[in-house]
Amino acid sequence: MIRFTVLTIFPDMIKQGLDTSILGRAQAAGHISVEAINIRDYTLDKHQKVDDYPYGGGAGMVMQAQPVYDAYKAVEDKCASKPRVIYVTPQGRTFNQDLAKELSKEEELVFLCGHYEGIDERVLEEIVTDNISIGDYVLTGGELPAMVMIDAVARLVPGVLNNDVSAEFESFNDNLLEYPQYSRPEEWNGKKVPEILLSGHHANVEKWRREQSIIRTLERRPDLLENANLSKKEQAFLEEYKKLPCNVRR
Ligand code: SAM
Repeated sequence: MIRFTVLTIFPDMIKQGLDTSILGRAQAAGHISVEAINIRDYTLDKHQKVDDYPYGGGAGMVMQAQPVYDAYKAVEDKCASKPRVIYVTPQGRTFNQDLAKELSKEEELVFLCGHYEGIDERVLEEIVTDNISIGDYVLTGGELPAMVMIDAVARLVPGVLNNDVSAEFESFNDNLLEYPQYSRPEEWNGKKVPEILLSGHHANVEKWRREQSIIRTLERRPDLLENANLSKKEQAFLEEYKKLPCNVRR
C-alpha cells in the first residue's frame, strides 16, 4: 500500500487523471490511495493568491513559499515520519523504470507540483527531498509529470495489476524492451501471427520472446544493451545477429 499525496493548485486534474481505470480500481481495493491537496486552501492572502512577481524582475509569476509550506506541513503532521517529498521539475534527475521501482518501496510519497515560473526556492530547500523530471522539455505545470510518476510507481505495487507477472516481463526489465505482442485473429490484413506463438511449446515461445526483446532493443534502444542482463548464450545470439546483413535480419 502506498499513500500518494499531491500538493497542487489544480486538484481536480489529479483526481480526474487518477481516479479511473486500473488506478481507480486500485484505490477502491485499498492497494494505493491518492489525495490531492489544494495549495490555495492554505494561502493567507485575502484574495486567495498563491503567486507573486519574482524579485529581480523577469517574466511570469512565482508560487510563494507560505501556502506551499503550510499545505506541506498539514500533510507532514499526519505522517509518522518525514515523508519523501518529490518536487516535479525539469531541473531534476530524469525519471525512469529503476526510479519507479525504488519509489514503489516507499509507504508514503508526496509530490509537489509547480506552476508559472516555479516555486520560491526557500520553501523547496526546506521541504523537498528529491527533484525529478519526466524529460528535457518544459510543461506548464507539474500535474502531468506527477500523474506520470504516480502511474508508473503504482502499477508496481503488488495487487494493482491483475497479473503481477505482467510488470515483471515488461520493457526496461533487465534493460530490454518487451517483445512484440499479438492477439486474435491469427491472420489480419494478410499478416500472420508468428508460427511459434501458436505452437503451444512454452520453452520455445519464451526463447523466441527473449530473442525478439534483444533484437528490438538493438534496433530501437541500443544504448540499453550495455547494461542488459544477458546470458552467455544470449550474448552470442546478439553478436551473431549483429553480423547479419540488414536485409536478412529478423
Ligand atoms: N521556470 C522553470 C524552469 O525553467 O526550470 C520551469 C517552470 S514550468 C513552466 C512550471 C512547473 O511545471 C514546474 O515548476 C514543474 O513543477 C513543472 N514541470 C515543467 N516541466 C517539467 C518536467 N519536464 N518534468 C517535471 N516537471 C515539470
